[in-house]
Amino acid sequence: MNSLTRRSFLRFGGLASVAALAPGFASFAIGGASRKVVVVGGGIGGATAAKYLRLMDSSIEVTLIEANKDYYTCFMSNEVLGGERSIDSIQFDYSGLKARGVNIVHDRVTAIDPDRRVVRTRGGQSFGYDRCIVSPGVDFRWDAIEGYDAQVAKKIPHAWKAGSQTRILRRQIEAMRDGGTVLIAPPANPYRCPPAPYDRVSQIAYYLKKHKPRSKIIILDPKDRFSKFDLFLDGWKRYYGYGTDDSMITWVSGAAGGSIESLDVKNMTIQADVESFRGDVINIIPPQKAGRIAFQAGLTNEQGWCPIDFRSFESTLQPKIHVIGDSALASPMPKGGYVANTAAKVCAAAIVADFNGSRAPQPSWINSCYSTLAPGDAISAVTIYAYRNGRIVKVEGSGGLTPLKFDAAMRAREAQYAHSWFNNITADVFG
Ligand SMILES: Cc1cc2nc3c(=O)[nH]c(=O)nc-3n(C[C@H](O)[C@H](O)[C@H](O)COP(=O)(O)OP(=O)(O)OC[C@H]3O[C@@H](n4cnc5c(N)ncnc54)[C@H](O)[C@@H]3O)c2cc1C
Repeated sequence: MNSLTRRSFLRFGGLASVAALAPGFASFAIGGASRKVVVVGGGIGGATAAKYLRLMDSSIEVTLIEANKDYYTCFMSNEVLGGERSIDSIQFDYSGLKARGVNIVHDRVTAIDPDRRVVRTRGGQSFGYDRCIVSPGVDFRWDAIEGYDAQVAKKIPHAWKAGSQTRILRRQIEAMRDGGTVLIAPPANPYRCPPAPYDRVSQIAYYLKKHKPRSKIIILDPKDRFSKFDLFLDGWKRYYGYGTDDSMITWVSGAAGGSIESLDVKNMTIQADVESFRGDVINIIPPQKAGRIAFQAGLTNEQGWCPIDFRSFESTLQPKIHVIGDSALASPMPKGGYVANTAAKVCAAAIVADFNGSRAPQPSWINSCYSTLAPGDAISAVTIYAYRNGRIVKVEGSGGLTPLKFDAAMRAREAQYAHSWFNNITADVFG
């Protein structure tokens, strides 16, 4: 079922250059021995890979093992926090993938045995594989901030995995008194979606300005600059009085003492480098590392991320296991959903090529990333990446940032593009 014609295959985003250089792709769905791929994690990377393996070669048996029945996208979860979107609109299930012939298993993977090529689950099931794709997202470094751990996060949410954490933070913001303070503490690089903490600040600020205008947001940041820096600051000046005595937003940079050391939940206080800050609502986004299963499977380096071959995303530490998404070390690409989505397609194409006895094709990747300053005013950054001499490089002269000079019509278009991007990528991943 669902075998592609060569022409429709070429239309898939992020794969045009891959396919053009891959003569082996002329023959899809060849018969022969069964080829088994087990995908661990059904988020953006894993779900895309499972779907595209089936689309590229329907003779491959694909099993996707995902811990949860429903997936909540992190993208647009900040709009939920700002009250501009319902949480139901970021919820997706696996019926689309099932209809494409992916064997869906809801269970938690507890072990991957690279020698026996077996994946084991908490529920006691075992799945043999010829290739395994691991896309478990990120895990948090719970030892990094004194007083902040997984248990405390139920009260002081990170909301860096969407779903129940998003709900908790939204409820707290809604319940906060007018005149209250929201503390937001982003981590140092690298972490999942570099501009998202500042998008979050903007979305919450918009809500507060409308409903609790005497409130404040303080950002406690270990960094001295961040993604789309000038564009965010310009937007905060226009909407939230940034830089004035009456600003709704205060940004404490690393140089100004923004690194945080500890949390005192009882007194709702964060001890930062120089002084302490009290919040009515506190959102700590802890430092991150690869998902736990990547450590168990021996896929991680000393920094806690997974080194890979960029042509196929095969682990350089464990043969026949591929790592995609946020856990993979794919610098200079950021850890983002669009990157996970295009990387999944490159990985799937390499596996199909290998199964069919041809060489992994020449990959390229796209990343476009939208952020919102206020409803109807969005900004974006686009980058195209190519594979050269074993490395990922930015294609010179490609992509770019939204111009800093404010143009209302262009910004309104960017906001429309942002929502259209969300509709397209979620259909591409789960549809
Ligand atoms: C607030 C916010 C906003 C964002 N906005 C954007 C955006 O606008 N654009 C963009 O491109 N990116 C955005 N991102 C980043 C994007 O969400 C991530 O980069 C993307 O989800 C990474 O995909 P992944 O497959 O690596 O991980 P995930 O999508 O997190 O998927 C991992 C999956 O693996 C499952 N899993 C983990 N371990 C196991 C196990 N042992 N057994 C079974 N299942 C397991 C998890 O349940 C989860 O479903 C945003 C992130 C945040 C936090």
